[in-house]
Amino acid sequence: MTNQVTLYAFNTGWFQCKPGYYVEGDEGPHMRAPVPSYLIEHPKGRALFDTGMGVRFRREKADALPDNKMGLEWFEGMDIATRLKAIDVDPGSINWVINSHLHIDHCGGNAHLPNATIIVQAIEFETARNSNQPMLYSTDDYDTGQPVKTVSGEHDLFGDGTVRIVPTFGHTPGHQSLIVRLAGGEVLLAGDCCYTERNLDVMVLPNATANMEQGMETYRRLDSLRKNGTHILFGHDGLQWKSVIEGVPFTL
Ligand SMILES: [Zn+2]
Repeated sequence: MTNQVTLYAFNTGWFQCKPGYYVEGDEGPHMRAPVPSYLIEHPKGRALFDTGMGVRFRREKADALPDNKMGLEWFEGMDIATRLKAIDVDPGSINWVINSHLHIDHCGGNAHLPNATIIVQAIEFETARNSNQPMLYSTDDYDTGQPVKTVSGEHDLFGDGTVRIVPTFGHTPGHQSLIVRLAGGEVLLAGDCCYTERNLDVMVLPNATANMEQGMETYRRLDSLRKNGTHILFGHDGLQWKSVIEGVPFTL
């Protein structure tokens, strides 16, 4: 069977923090990590997995985040709508937006995908709506007028096994990841269920985990998928991202 799915990776901004934010006890200067967004093209439609940050996080180069400060930022040209246009994909042609979760650095670009249906775990949608932590969840990002399809657990987007949503709870109560079947094998787009490869190597969850027990269950699942040959693209991994070529079909 010929492969019919194409995956593109984009970095839509930067998340900067100390190494200890990922693995407590790790020392060193602040690190810069990507805020990824992925385009999946399938004969039945186009989907995005995560959409980056909202316009309020945009900075000018002259006003960039100092390299000893934790924070989020993006610069002109990095947002997902602009990145799509650069490869001749109209943001209006995106059919589905799958948000790993509804934190501010994962759904801030949803507003620029007017014809998409947003797919999110039901429990994540509830969590966002009941949240009183605007630094984590903002209606500006996730309440942007498009239809929302809530799912509970696994969901096979095209019904043919090539693009599967899998629940990966822990970081948030309703976090989800995406497994994409490419010609060379399967890729799991982790989102924030696992920030970095190092987290999984040492099996240490970051403190920013809503439910440690669920988070560890997710890590065990990722570890076994990895051992069985699934390639994992981690959530905010500056080291891994150096090997990712953006805006071209991702290959294994
Ligand atoms: Zn994040």
